[in-house]
Amino acid sequence: MKQKRYFLAEDEIPRYWYNIQADMKTKPLPPLHPATKQALKAEDLYPIFAKECCNQEMNQIDPWIQIPDDVREAYKFYRSTPLVRAYALEKALGTPAHIYFKNESVSPMGSHKLNSAIPQAYYCRQEGITNITTETGAGQWGASLAYAASMFGIDSAVYQVKISYEQKPYRRSIMQTFGAQVTPSPSMSTRAGKDILTAHPNHQGSLGTAISEAVELARTTPNCKYCLGSVLNHVALHQTIIGLEAEKQMEMAGEYPDIVIACFGGGSNFGGLAFPFMRHVIAAEKGKDHTRFIAAEPASCPKLTRGEFRYDFGDEAGYTPLLPMYTLGHNFAPANIHAGGLRYHGAGVIVSQLLKDKMMEAVDIDQLESFQAGTLFARAEGIIPAPESCHAIAATIREALRCKETGEEKVILFNLSGHGLVDMASYDKFLAGDLQNHSLSDEDLSRTLAEIEPLQP
Ligand SMILES: *Cc1c(COP(=O)(O)O)cnc(C)c1O
Repeated sequence: MKQKRYFLAEDEIPRYWYNIQADMKTKPLPPLHPATKQALKAEDLYPIFAKECCNQEMNQIDPWIQIPDDVREAYKFYRSTPLVRAYALEKALGTPAHIYFKNESVSPMGSHKLNSAIPQAYYCRQEGITNITTETGAGQWGASLAYAASMFGIDSAVYQVKISYEQKPYRRSIMQTFGAQVTPSPSMSTRAGKDILTAHPNHQGSLGTAISEAVELARTTPNCKYCLGSVLNHVALHQTIIGLEAEKQMEMAGEYPDIVIACFGGGSNFGGLAFPFMRHVIAAEKGKDHTRFIAAEPASCPKLTRGEFRYDFGDEAGYTPLLPMYTLGHNFAPANIHAGGLRYHGAGVIVSQLLKDKMMEAVDIDQLESFQAGTLFARAEGIIPAPESCHAIAATIREALRCKETGEEKVILFNLSGHGLVDMASYDKFLAGDLQNHSLSDEDLSRTLAEIEPLQP
């Protein structure tokens, strides 16, 4: 039995986030105003988000953005997170590959989400905001934002996707412990929620419906801003702390990743781990220009592998700007899989452009394969992974088994985006044989794709 962990000293924790937009050969297309269809500027987003986040969102100039001292101090509550060489998993698979994982599950809320919740709450406080609102799927983002808000003395209101609110009651308790007001979405408390419930009384909710409700609350409440836990550029920016740390830790281990893997909901933990390594590919640096980047998404919500690159809304009601992204259509209602954090119809704008430019790859994973992989990982490494993270593990296992066939000693690095200790009801179902795969027919897919705005990028 062997496991090796690498940590950074406090003064080695990064002082800057990495903004890949500045280095991208093809810059992402601008988001468009939902009504006028004109390209948006940072100022257009000021009514909804903290100003600093809007500026970061649109920044295609500065590759390095300083982490404020207060944010870096808060990061030290749990950072650096360990980089782990997964010897026991390698042994269980009988692979010659070297498998490493970055363990973001050690954050107080159990996932990577806090890396962006802290700066978002911080910037709101700096700008004199007293209330923040957001949506949450499985509850990891809502819990992280509730905690970050309480750190900076701000009130938080969270719309939680109804199916997750019911399946994962403990995440609701966690949010409430940190003082958040939690509402299952769709709800009757907003116009958007009422419209959705009137049309579909049994709607189970999706991140799309919850975003509509939270944005509406932010727009109609004075001194209130909206925060988003994934998809947007500034969220992926904050998450690059993961890859920047991992880069230094891989150096301590004396290796460099041939393959970088993360699960994919909107792209923040993927971008967070991948972008710092991708900068060497963009710069064609010798010895670092060959790394492959793989996003692992659920087969039941396959925007990267089966979606289209289109301008589409980020939410169900069509309140958000139109984003140029891989999407299944904003009316897509994903199956009720247990990886709640991956049930989103679109992909972040940066990641979408990178996929289009073939800088990265995507694979889709069925629910059963994901839980099989997660269980194997848990038994080998002693950590129960979040259902979302199980997708990254399944993709890692596929690559490691390929190495077993070819005898190649590849170095694989994946992101353990969170632990699954609050998701044991899902594991119970898996262990009892009550989970199933959800296939998505081409007919269902083409129906929601046909409902996207006709406008083409
Ligand atoms: C939210 C979440 C994800 C998916 O979000 P991304 O923005 O794609 O990273 C993945 N894993 C965990 C544990 C999450 O909480």
